[in-house]
Amino acid sequence: MNIEKYDEIRASLPGGVRLVAVSKFKPAEDIAALYQHGQRVFGENHAQEMKAKHEVLPQDIEWHFIGHLQTNKIKYIAPYVALIHSIDSFPLLKEVNKYAVKNGRIIPCLLQFHIADEETKFGFTLEECEDMLLSAEFQELKNVVIHGVMGMATFTDDQAQVRREFHHLRRIFEDLKTRYFSQNPDFKELSMGMTDDYPIAISEGSTLIRIGSAIFGPRNYSV
Ligand SMILES: *Cc1c(COP(=O)(O)O)cnc(C)c1O
Repeated sequence: MNIEKYDEIRASLPGGVRLVAVSKFKPAEDIAALYQHGQRVFGENHAQEMKAKHEVLPQDIEWHFIGHLQTNKIKYIAPYVALIHSIDSFPLLKEVNKYAVKNGRIIPCLLQFHIADEETKFGFTLEECEDMLLSAEFQELKNVVIHGVMGMATFTDDQAQVRREFHHLRRIFEDLKTRYFSQNPDFKELSMGMTDDYPIAISEGSTLIRIGSAIFGPRNYSV
């Protein structure tokens, strides 16, 4: 783990930008060490892994779910998750609402948009999202609250392209805020930026950066 890098990133964040420490594939001991150092917000992308870590780590950790969420895995995170960044379909949002009701909670969610020039990244198109927001069924979901949007830029060295994609997400955020969430003060989060592109994301208005490898080191996916 690179505490110096963590401190450097923290010190560089403008006011209003929060850091989600992405601890996927990393052991609970690493999370505990960063917790001791003051970090409270952690991001995971596998529901069972997050559940296992939640059970053994301090209860005041804010767990953010950032990966593709399958409906049959919601049960592992619904009782305690602080923010789901990755709502990528209306059926998923409806299922999250169902589990939120079961747990007597209101679960904060972000709508994930497909902004990258890659087939593999999940997310709404603006049209799909608006169809959802305009539906009566959406209005009836009382146990989820939309806090904003999330997106991932293309994995590329082309910084201008990354900037264009983040700028696009920023425009989607502003547009939705004006047209659908102007009465909703909770709609304020723009989750974008990872290890390789967070400075660009911040300059384009990010409020939540999700940093993994810069802090915890490279991930060993074969473990
Ligand atoms: C893994 C992951 C991150 C962190 O990636 P790094 O490049 O290691 O900072 C951020 N967001 C999502 C959705 C991820 O899956």
